[in-house]
Amino acid sequence: MTEQKLVTPAQNTWCPGCGNFVIQFALRDALRAAIERGTDPDSIVLVTGIGCHAKMADYLAVNSFYAIHGRTVPVATGIKMANPDLSVICCAGDGDAYAEGLDHLVFSAKRNSDITVIVHNNRVYGLTTGQYTPTSPYGFRGRSTPAGTVEPPLNPLALMLSSGATFVARGCTRRKKDLEGIFSEAMEHRGFAFVDVLQVCATYFNAADVYDRFVYPLEGHDTGDFAAAFRKAREWDYTSEGPIATGIFYRASRPTLEETMKPVSRAGKVPAETIAKILEARK
Ligand code: SF4
Repeated sequence: MTEQKLVTPAQNTWCPGCGNFVIQFALRDALRAAIERGTDPDSIVLVTGIGCHAKMADYLAVNSFYAIHGRTVPVATGIKMANPDLSVICCAGDGDAYAEGLDHLVFSAKRNSDITVIVHNNRVYGLTTGQYTPTSPYGFRGRSTPAGTVEPPLNPLALMLSSGATFVARGCTRRKKDLEGIFSEAMEHRGFAFVDVLQVCATYFNAADVYDRFVYPLEGHDTGDFAAAFRKAREWDYTSEGPIATGIFYRASRPTLEETMKPVSRAGKVPAETIAKILEARK
């Protein structure tokens, strides 16, 4: 598939310098690689939520679905359960995934739903002009916290490891090539794949300088070692300056939700022709 076919002609409204561009291009390249490896382009479904990140559904030319705020993960899970042959990718914002949608994220990891969740973690609500989110640094001054936040940020990697995610990774929009590789690995993973992407919000929280100084790629790390993954995940607390590892922290294999549900769902399966007839009647 050509680059033109993977990117739509829709007018782009992201701010200049926004990290969403890097995520879009990294995802486009990872999708292109998957298609070249044999993935049917028609089997790819992208689910987005509400926020600046969500426009990815407008800009990438794959099947897509806008979910309401915080509900990207259950929608993606439902799509995958309805048709396990689909490759389901879920893009969510940090507000989307770590605030309103947090319980969905935890339970999808626990169930090992075979979806890829990419969190555009710019650590601020950008679309609504700069309120703090669960991963804003301690003391963050924004529209809703002019005197600074008084609560420490959530560590999404530690949370996902604790929740049973079988693939846990972190990328950064200052390192596009690495990000593309992480996305490819996440999409290849069978089970719940989680990628926290440290994304620059050029307008409301431009942490580019910090990321350029402190982000480093994981090397010589055993991705099968849960304790080592947890130690690495806690190396940086999302507030202080210090080493910020990116790459794949943890990878494990266990039955997916779709596999464990198969014997149950087979009994009540609605034939595809019946669904087609219902959709046809509604046209
Ligand atoms: S507000 Fe921030 S996240 Fe939203 S488009 Fe602008 S730079 Fe990107």
